[in-house]
Amino acid sequence: MDICIIGSGLSGLSAAYALLKKSDKFNITILEKKDVIGGCLSSSRAGRGYIEDFYHHCFSGDTELFELSKELGIYDSLEWLSGSTGYYVNGKIYPLTTPVEILKYPHLSFIDKFRLGRFVLGAKKYDAAEYEDVGAVEFAIEKCGKSAYKSFFEPLLRGKFGDAKDKVSAAWLISRVAIRSDRKAGGERLGYFRDGYNSLIESLAAKLKERGCAINTGTPVTALKFNGETKKWSVNGVEYDAVISTIDPRKLTEIGGPKIIDGDIHFQGAACMSIGLKREVTDGIYWVNMRDDAPYAAVIGHTNFVPRERYGEDIVYLASYFCKKPDGNLEERMLEDFLKRFNLGRDEINWYHLTIEESAGPIYTKGYRRLIPSAGREDLKGFYCAGMFSEENYPERSMEGSIKAGYTAAERLINDYRE
Ligand SMILES: Cc1cc2nc3c(=O)[nH]c(=O)nc-3n(C[C@H](O)[C@H](O)[C@H](O)COP(=O)(O)OP(=O)(O)OC[C@H]3O[C@@H](n4cnc5c(N)ncnc54)[C@H](O)[C@@H]3O)c2cc1C
Repeated sequence: MDICIIGSGLSGLSAAYALLKKSDKFNITILEKKDVIGGCLSSSRAGRGYIEDFYHHCFSGDTELFELSKELGIYDSLEWLSGSTGYYVNGKIYPLTTPVEILKYPHLSFIDKFRLGRFVLGAKKYDAAEYEDVGAVEFAIEKCGKSAYKSFFEPLLRGKFGDAKDKVSAAWLISRVAIRSDRKAGGERLGYFRDGYNSLIESLAAKLKERGCAINTGTPVTALKFNGETKKWSVNGVEYDAVISTIDPRKLTEIGGPKIIDGDIHFQGAACMSIGLKREVTDGIYWVNMRDDAPYAAVIGHTNFVPRERYGEDIVYLASYFCKKPDGNLEERMLEDFLKRFNLGRDEINWYHLTIEESAGPIYTKGYRRLIPSAGREDLKGFYCAGMFSEENYPERSMEGSIKAGYTAAERLINDYRE
């Protein structure tokens, strides 16, 4: 049976893996538009190793990710590291990891800190799905008060969703806070593979190739249609018995594919600059959120999380999200601002590169859940989908969610074609 998978991100690779694990009757071709595999989890060479183009870490509940890494033989290289946090306000970095640091933070009143602490510690008790139709902004104000919202949540929501922040569902906020409340004195407990997430993508791809799967990079799917006569799906002119699409549903219709979402779903884009530096700039902190106005929402000190010695230099990310396409000179604006703000000379930068992804994740607006497409449909024989828009990635997309979404699509296909 010939199967085409559109996209070589975690959803696509996981779907192929699940299919080939079950049977050798599947002849799978993965088509990837970019020159590299991995999608949002792609990596580039940095110093002595690889670094993700977009910062990544995993969480203690990511059971499918752990299982998969065991099957690929890389689980032993999973390390649990501490991720400290801080806030950049009025030109100064304030550490906000330990209770003492939080108490000393001058930009929140004692009562605001108390309300925030109570909300963060209690976030796991809320059932996110029940708050699907409540706005994140209203919810944060109700639980923490207006001033805590203004000085703490608003900059985070603005940085992540821009103008769309008022439409975001409280379900997203709750799950986001709950997942990030696994804290110890030194910071949040976050997982990272010793050789980076590149090792996950590469070992998964190697396993697929070993089992006969073709992965064709630099091959965008531009034409997809169902041939009523042969009852097959034509992808760039080649016919397949089934297709699994892992791409943004809006882009799927642009290439001729079916409309799988009945409503208005928005994706946000991400622009992330990684920079190799001669010195450390975030006072030893991993994740610094910007409250001051800057062309990036956070400065992520990667080598304050993963030991610097692995790369032989300091590495930071400048992270930003966008809803409308960023203007052409974003790279220069980000770099200029960063150099000025952190008193760095150009000669202190070893290298930098900007990665832009227009479909970096759905915006979880109120009512989003009702729009989620199912992995397969009776009326679309041979067509399946999995990705950041899937049920498994609600209400926040993740590596774990994309692996599960890939598995679900594969399972559905296997069930439909069971002999
Ligand atoms: C900035 C950022 C930070 C993140 N941090 C974390 C984190 O710390 N922890 C965590 O668990 N998750 C994190 N994630 C989420 C995680 O990366 C994603 O959930 C996951 O990688 C998505 O995989 P996917 O296969 O569903 O989608 P994608 O990775 O988007 O894969 C889709 C693939 O399809 C390809 N494609 C698109 N159109 C076509 C076409 N026409 N023809 C062929 N190919 C096409 C794309 O190039 C891409 O490779 C982060 C994501 C981003 C953007």
